[in-house]
Amino acid sequence: MAVGPEARPIPTFEAARHLVENHAAQVHPPGTESVELLQASNRVLAESVAADRDIPPFPRSTRDGYAVHAADLGNLPVTLDVVAEIRAGQKPEDIPSLLARGQAASIMTGAPVPAGADAVVMVEYTTRKADRVEVTRAVRPGENIVPKGAEARLGASLLLPGARLNDAAIALAASVGKSQVKVYLRPRVTVLTTGDEIVPVESSPGPTQIRNSNSYSLAAQIQHAGGEPVLLPIAPDEPQELRRLIEQGLQSDLLILTGGVSMGRYDLVEQALAELNAEFFFTGANIQPGRPVVFGQIPWGGDTPFDKLRAGSVRQMPAHKYFFGLPGNPVSTMVTFKLFARPMLEALTGLSPQKLVFLHARLKSEIHAKTGLKRFLPAVLSGEFENSQVELVAWQGSGDIAATARANCYVVVPSDRERIAAGEWVAVMMR
Ligand code: AMP
Ligand code: MG
Repeated sequence: MAVGPEARPIPTFEAARHLVENHAAQVHPPGTESVELLQASNRVLAESVAADRDIPPFPRSTRDGYAVHAADLGNLPVTLDVVAEIRAGQKPEDIPSLLARGQAASIMTGAPVPAGADAVVMVEYTTRKADRVEVTRAVRPGENIVPKGAEARLGASLLLPGARLNDAAIALAASVGKSQVKVYLRPRVTVLTTGDEIVPVESSPGPTQIRNSNSYSLAAQIQHAGGEPVLLPIAPDEPQELRRLIEQGLQSDLLILTGGVSMGRYDLVEQALAELNAEFFFTGANIQPGRPVVFGQIPWGGDTPFDKLRAGSVRQMPAHKYFFGLPGNPVSTMVTFKLFARPMLEALTGLSPQKLVFLHARLKSEIHAKTGLKRFLPAVLSGEFENSQVELVAWQGSGDIAATARANCYVVVPSDRERIAAGEWVAVMMR
């Protein structure tokens, strides 16, 4: 039985993150589909991609120059007989079957090196004299040649399921003839915003009402991470309707709630989840912004109408659904999504587990902070090339969307640092 929220200890950021990662390791993507390679950018591969032949398929020259016997270049300069000209794509029958000692073949970058030759001397170190060539620089055996199969052997696996199809992965797939690839279906992520004061973006808010921006930032973050956002109507701070919408939200692969998780009298989200037999893994983390963040699971036995729409997808029904309750302050929502919900969503996309890594930059102006919480503060990373600098943006706290929109990253302030001086290296989390 789950313990009540008051009794639960508040984990450090790292402990909370590891907890999510451990649960994320147990989830599966909703299914697979086949897509054209041109449409596959950023999707997650659901099959292995193997070399359909040796790569390179022939010993490949990496330079324009002359294919030679390295041993012929003893007492320089040396003059060799040029017996062939080999271009990239040269037909095999037009390539000498064996280059004899004392002979050279003019060769272009990407062309096959003839048998017998064991090195390519760059054209810069040669002078062509009719059908002979004078060479002024020695070469090591193997120099400027990539041997047949050196990059991959026929049948070797080049990409594994769970790989993000970035530019290099797509190039690799193309190079072995995969014009179509099997990728994982995008998981559906329900976004449920709560709060009596929250109104839809299309409406004109009353004097004390606030437009729903969190559903939109979350939708953007979900799409960016490879999920499909499903936006539910705004839930009022009223138990019955809140619970009904939560149950609706549980039909998708992941439920993300925003708002209603603080300790206020109308923060009803935890209670509504508890009534649905939720198990809470944490109901807070020692971070700022976003301290009241909630993570848990709810037993799930139902069929999901969404799945029926997914023709051809094979799927095992999970025995429970994961949920996150993110604090409603807009910056808290953005930060806690990135820190905690994103790794779970990535796992649901089929992506192999990704650790969160921070980059480092030099602090431009000093920071003062209270100790006890790890802080993720909106900041501007600037500078150029190897000279990165970072500076906090002035902000009014975790409700300040405008300040956060001026930022392009977050500075990570350790929980035990009261002051960080200008010029120190600090950890930076990119947007
Ligand atoms: P809560 O977490 O419900 O206590 O909300 C904290 C703050 O975030 C309050 O100022 C809310 O008005 C604001 N807030 C909550 N949900 C949203 C939302 N969907 N869009 C914009 N602001 C929100
Ligand atoms: Mg609220």
